[in-house]
Amino acid sequence: MAVIVNKEECIGCSACISACPFGAMVMEADKACITDACTVCGACVDTCPVNAITKESEQAAVKIDKAEYKDVWVFIEQIDGQVKNVSHELLGEGRKLADAMGEQLAGVIIGDEVEALSKEVFASGADKVYLVEASELKNYSTDGYTTVFAGLINTYKPSVILIGATNDGRDLGPRVACRVGTGLTADCTNLGIDEQTGLVAWTRPAFGGNIMATILCPEHRPQMGTVRPKVFKRPEQDFSKSGEIIRVASKVKGQGIRTRLLELVKVCTTSCNLEEAEIIVSGGRGMGKPENFRLIEELADVLGGVVGASRAVVDAGWKPHYHQVGQTGKTVGPKVYFACGISGAIQHVAGMSSSDIIIAINKDADAPIFKVADYGIIGDVAEVLPALIEEFKKAKAC
Ligand SMILES: Cc1cc2nc3c(=O)[nH]c(=O)nc-3n(C[C@H](O)[C@H](O)[C@H](O)COP(=O)(O)OP(=O)(O)OC[C@H]3O[C@@H](n4cnc5c(N)ncnc54)[C@H](O)[C@@H]3O)c2cc1C
Repeated sequence: MAVIVNKEECIGCSACISACPFGAMVMEADKACITDACTVCGACVDTCPVNAITKESEQAAVKIDKAEYKDVWVFIEQIDGQVKNVSHELLGEGRKLADAMGEQLAGVIIGDEVEALSKEVFASGADKVYLVEASELKNYSTDGYTTVFAGLINTYKPSVILIGATNDGRDLGPRVACRVGTGLTADCTNLGIDEQTGLVAWTRPAFGGNIMATILCPEHRPQMGTVRPKVFKRPEQDFSKSGEIIRVASKVKGQGIRTRLLELVKVCTTSCNLEEAEIIVSGGRGMGKPENFRLIEELADVLGGVVGASRAVVDAGWKPHYHQVGQTGKTVGPKVYFACGISGAIQHVAGMSSSDIIIAINKDADAPIFKVADYGIIGDVAEVLPALIEEFKKAKAC
């Protein structure tokens, strides 16, 4: 899409200059001109008294043959030679979409010496793998991976692309979408097929999590979205399955990557790997003060779990953000989730409701957390947590 000034119609009144919120309009030879700062917001279009400024219609800008676009792709995120769980989860969901659309499922693996990961990808349901290997692609880089991914899309034209809403996925998805001229629905919590159009229905929370919006991408291809880890269950793997590997040469040159990885610093080890954890003990403002978090840590330790936190706790500086569970934190799906002194606000529940078993401890019997809890303990965390720790310690010693 673009904004266009019809120079013959422009009367040089300058109304559009002050109307533009981005300072993207300038006057040249008494005619309005649009600079690179234009965001196509359309404010100038509405202001022009002689209709000399128009938005190029979306239909005109899109000159793609949608019938050419086929197959569902999943970006296979890997680190240290391991496929991330979220990629398996998306292969499981991608399989369902591909079957419903009568198309194939492909995994896109980018890296260095990563061909062995194809077996994992086929076992999780893919029919094909697009494999791009080069030493420059060993570690994720925005420039390198965007160039490779966009090149694959332009050549092989997939209909749908799923990317994990991880740090790298959130960086890559919008870049690639912009490069190939399509949209992207970020942070989806559900996927389906719209019955009327046959398009992918991307569902995500909107307006602070108060409503769920379902978004379609009718005019552009591919249809793209990011999905948070743990929203979908990892599929059962079948290692008897195999498929076609399509090797594609990388055109990325070292100088095309503007960033250099100097060092990897792990600020967070298994103790805060919430997305992979089977047991999470989370604390909220009801813990009273940061020192009381030692009870949360002790219970997590006894159970071999990890520590989570509500946003209130993170905002208060009691815990770093990477412990936060919820809409603006992490989406988790452990076997057991303890919510201690957490009220159960919708934004917190959005990040933990898919846990298998939820155990809530709260002194307020009417706290909303009890509506989603499988087990509820009405009481003071200062009394309940030490008692639980002691009992679990005894049980472990038996
Ligand atoms: C756009 C947006 C995004 C957000 N994203 C997130 C998010 O990602 N994650 C998140 O958590 N929140 C998020 N929030 C904030 C959310 O709305 C709540 O404010 C927050 O979850 C409250 O945290 P809390 O339950 O710890 O605190 P509170 O709401 O203050 O609840 C404390 C609870 O502890 C109980 N309690 C108090 N003392 C004790 C005691 N001694 N023993 C037992 N129980 C006790 C109380 O009864 C109460 O239920 C978001 C909000 C917005 C607007």
